[in-house]
Order: sequence, then structure tokens, then C-alpha cells
Amino acid sequence: MQHTLQFAQQCDAEDPLKHFREEFLLPKDTQGNNLIYLCGNSLGLQPKLTQEYIQQELNDWAKHGVEGHTDAENPWLPYHEFLTETMASIVGAKPSEVVMMNTLTTNLHLMMVSFYQPTPSKYKIIVESDAFPSDKYAVESQLKFHGFDPSDGLILWKPRAGEDLCRFEDLEQIMAEQGDQVALLMIGSTNYYSGQHFPLKKITELGHKYGCKVGFDLAHGAGNIEPKLHETGADFAVWCSYKYLNSGPGSLGGCFVHERHANNDKLNRFTGWWGHNKETRFNMRHEFDALQGAEGWQLSNPPILSMAAIRASLAVFADAGFNKLRKKSIKLTGYLEFLLHDLENDAINIITPSNPEERGCQLSIQLKSANKETHTKLTKTGVISDWREPDVIRVAPAPLYNSFEDVFEFVQRLKKVL
Ligand SMILES: *Cc1c(COP(=O)(O)O)cnc(C)c1O
Repeated sequence: MQHTLQFAQQCDAEDPLKHFREEFLLPKDTQGNNLIYLCGNSLGLQPKLTQEYIQQELNDWAKHGVEGHTDAENPWLPYHEFLTETMASIVGAKPSEVVMMNTLTTNLHLMMVSFYQPTPSKYKIIVESDAFPSDKYAVESQLKFHGFDPSDGLILWKPRAGEDLCRFEDLEQIMAEQGDQVALLMIGSTNYYSGQHFPLKKITELGHKYGCKVGFDLAHGAGNIEPKLHETGADFAVWCSYKYLNSGPGSLGGCFVHERHANNDKLNRFTGWWGHNKETRFNMRHEFDALQGAEGWQLSNPPILSMAAIRASLAVFADAGFNKLRKKSIKLTGYLEFLLHDLENDAINIITPSNPEERGCQLSIQLKSANKETHTKLTKTGVISDWREPDVIRVAPAPLYNSFEDVFEFVQRLKKVL
């Protein structure tokens, strides 16, 4: 690898996925120059197909009114099913284990209704520190809902003093000491702050060994790493579609329920009509009869316009092939890491693991001076990245639309502001 524009351009020229950049709308500055957009971990960019897919549903609504449920070109009644197969392949699940519905935090609560059933002696929940705030709030409120005090019931899996990453052996230690009191491990598969990707299968096996349920938040995993959910054996997982999955702000989330729970009637479940047997859903008089698999957790008839955006985005993923994307992602982030090391600048420190198996596309760059002003200056040079308190700039080159040249340019500009 080389620290030259020419080398970056050559990598782009040899990139078999380079044309996918053309399939996206890239944000520009006021002069019409492309911004260096490295924020797909927060909001992915808009595929050009999205407008067309949403327009189709607007047209069918205009043309058919309520009959669109059955007569639209893509009938609305089964519309969520059009998303399932590609979504399942991206997260490594069987189609029956996956459904797109609600939003991430809502799904997390629904999953905890089913998979957090504490007893007076086995009630604690483990999350990683620092977990995304919404996840922590959700977990704390579930503890309180069941009458437990979060200061006792919530266990944080933390990095050791002076370290930035969580060690698996420390989780083993927590379980050895308190495993018989733990009901649930709820871990963010790829930590939003450090970019560390956790060993999902090992965590699941550890949790199950102590009779706990195990769930993952894939907000930073879905569309980024290959979580192989089915193989991990996790009980459930949730994610959103607006980060790496490019489906638009606030778009619907995804949910995974392992097939061994497909018909598990020992689980509590909050129910609604969309989880009911499709054959008799509209008779409206029957007792609740849950659909098999993840679909049985649906509550409401879902927003078609949001699902149209997800469908457009998944079509791009299917076209590119997720394996190929991941391969490019490893190279692209590897190049970013190389360039940052090459700066030999003591003011910065990459806290994300250097092993590609333990990270996705994001690198978290710690500013030793913890100076937010540096990030503001960087933004003024036309770089969109984000700042996370207390001292981290997150940059996430997305393999669908970012180029090696983007990465090169970013590092040039960072060097200038440092
Ligand atoms: C982005 C993100 C969320 C956001 O939750 P919403 O319910 O979609 O607003 C939650 N958890 C994690 C880990 C995230 O990264």
C-alpha cells in the first residue's frame, strides 16, 4: 500500500464494485463538490432506485386506493415478505427467522418481553459498556418493569482500566461469578463507539451454558459485517435499516428470532393482528393464532413507503453480493488504517481493533487532546464524519459508495487540521 493519490485511484480502477457508487446520491457542498461522506454508520446514503420504488407505491395508492392491498403491482398485504430473503441472507439467518417491522428500540422491547422472563434469583442483564444509550435505557426500564433495581440488576461488561476494548475473558469471569443470577445477555454486536465487533457465537455459547438468553443489537452489524445469526445460536437480534442498510431516516427495523423459538408458546409475547395467521386474519373473530417464526411477532400493518425504501436498498445489496462487499470493506478500511498509521501523528490513536475479524468498516479515531474543535474544522474541509463524546471521531467508509480516493482525501484533510 502507498500513501499516494495515484495508488488510491489505481485501487478504485481495479475495484470490481466501483460502479455501485454511481447508484447513490452523494451529498455535495454549496459549490456542488462532492463531500467526503464517511457517515454511513449513522445514516446511509440514498440509492437512486429508492425514489422509483416509493413512487411506484404512491402511484398504486392513487390508482387503487384500498384495493392496492391486493391489486398493487407489489401487493401491500404480503409486502414485508418481499424483503425477507435478502435481509435474511445479509444477517446470515433463515428467512423464517427474520422479519422487518417497527423500529429498533421497539423491537428490542418486544424481544425482551419474550426473552427476558426473570425469576427472583435469576434476573440480571449484562450489556457491554459503553452500550448505545437507547439500549441501556431499554434494558434498565425492563428491569424496573419487573421490579428490579438497575443498580443491582444491570451488569456492565467493561474494558479494563486504561483499555478501550472489552475482553471476552472478562465476560467469562463475570459469568463464572454471577452467571446463575443472569437471565439475559444483550450485547451490541459491533459497538457503536469503539467499532469493536464481538465474537457472537462464543458469547451465545457462554450465555447458554449458564442457562441465560442471549440477544444482539446489530444496528452497527447489519449490512456491515457478516453476523451469521443462525449459526451463532442467539435467541434473538434486532437492528435498524437506516445505517449501513441505506433505507432512509427512521426507516423500519429488523428482527431475528431463532427457529427453535418459532412455535415456542412458553414465551410471553405482546401480540397484534399482523402476527396472526394470515388465513384468518381478516375474520377478526378468532382467538390469536400466531404465525410461525419471526413473523408471529408483528403487531401492525407496516408502512409500505418505508418498506419500499428498504426493498430498493436490498435490491442494490443483492446485486452487489454481500460477500464481495465485505471483501472490499476489509480492503478499504485496511487502507484507511494504513494511511492513519503512516501519518505517525501522536495526537491520534485508533481504538478499533486492528484485526478485521474484530471490526466492521468503522474506525474510531481518538483525539488525545479530546478537542471537539478539531472535528468542527474537519467538517469545514468537506468531510462528513461524526464526533462522539468524549474524544472520538468515527469514520466509516461504506464499500457500496465510498472509494479509496475518498479515504485518501479524508486522511489528507485530517492531517491538515491536526
Ligand atoms: C442507532 C442505534 C439505535 C437507534 O435506535 P432506534 O430505535 O432506531 O432509534 C439503537 N441502538 C444502537 C446500538 C444503535 O446503534
